[in-house]
Amino acid sequence: MVDTDIRLPLRADLAGEQPYGAPQLDVPHLLNVNENPYSPPEAVVQDVAAAVREAVGGLNRYPDRDFLTLRSRLAEYLATESGAEQLAAENIWAGNGSNEVMIHLLQAFGGPGRSVLSFTPTYSMYPEYARDTLTSYSTAPRRDDFTVDIDEAIATIGSRRPAVVLLASPNNPTGTALPLEDVRALAAATTDTGPDGAATVLVIDEAYAEFRREETPSASTLVGQFPHLAVARTMSKAFALAGARLGYLAAPAPLVDCLRIVRLPYHLSAITQAVAGAALDHRDLLQGQVAELRDRRDETVGWLRERGWTVAESDANFVLFGLFEDRHRIWQGLLDRGVLIRETGPHGYLRTSIGTAEDMAAFRGALEEVTGR
Ligand code: PMP
Repeated sequence: MVDTDIRLPLRADLAGEQPYGAPQLDVPHLLNVNENPYSPPEAVVQDVAAAVREAVGGLNRYPDRDFLTLRSRLAEYLATESGAEQLAAENIWAGNGSNEVMIHLLQAFGGPGRSVLSFTPTYSMYPEYARDTLTSYSTAPRRDDFTVDIDEAIATIGSRRPAVVLLASPNNPTGTALPLEDVRALAAATTDTGPDGAATVLVIDEAYAEFRREETPSASTLVGQFPHLAVARTMSKAFALAGARLGYLAAPAPLVDCLRIVRLPYHLSAITQAVAGAALDHRDLLQGQVAELRDRRDETVGWLRERGWTVAESDANFVLFGLFEDRHRIWQGLLDRGVLIRETGPHGYLRTSIGTAEDMAAFRGALEEVTGR
């Protein structure tokens, strides 16, 4: 029998906390975690399986700890995807999802006595990275249209002196992208605003970058111009590889070297490296539906607006819309019709990922039925 009088020494700040995560329910239309709805095509399945098979033959050995081959492939990818031609392997870092890469950033640059600043509403994992690394979490509000007032942001950074700023672009859950000149202005203004006159590490989280509209550039082109600027990316969204867990960032080599200090040895398994490499060989096939998803996003925004809903401008594969007096009732009504979306964002809003044409038809039908609009 287990002695129930014995208490576990859980950290006081973790008492009562729940593990992060949206519901994983078995319903026909999964539109709640911004996944790509298309599974990898058969040709990719074959090649990824072959790469994994080969990796399995060497699993008695630890994987390549510095994974320079994969890092150099990711640098090449960013060069072609967004014109960041200045990047080489030493400018790339990767982990099991961009969540892990961002935890590495806070492990290296955050910690007791330091703070991380973000601009809300934003990605709900940011406070968790802070909590888990004993970094204090500080927020400043976005404007009503979810853009960031850069002058105000610079003033806030100057007064709070955070070690790290986390800015998602496109932002989750709003879809809002940051103009390149704002990133440049922020980077120029944060060279000595961190602890003890050091820089504030400026992290632009571009998990959804491949879905951005044509006129929206990627901040990866600025990497190298500032020693404290890092741009995070992931294969979870546009590459349709959420299950593979591969996220990465681009930054100057000295910043990447700081992250190498805190990573666990061999954190990126040989299987993950093999999958990511084979997937990069097939980026065109894997990303074949990105343009289609982008168009469907714009159609969804238009459709919602025609019905009088408020919809945030989106550069991502999801849309934030409202305003509902009782958003939980709408969320539940959609779920009852087999459509799972996310109850997130400011009061009165809901977020839907962009799925297949069938998913979005089901979403529209269910929303019409539940709201009568
Ligand atoms: N950043 C943002 C803004 C996200 O929305 C997500 C996933 N929902 C991530 C990072 C993390 O994604 P992953 O760990 O799968 O790369």
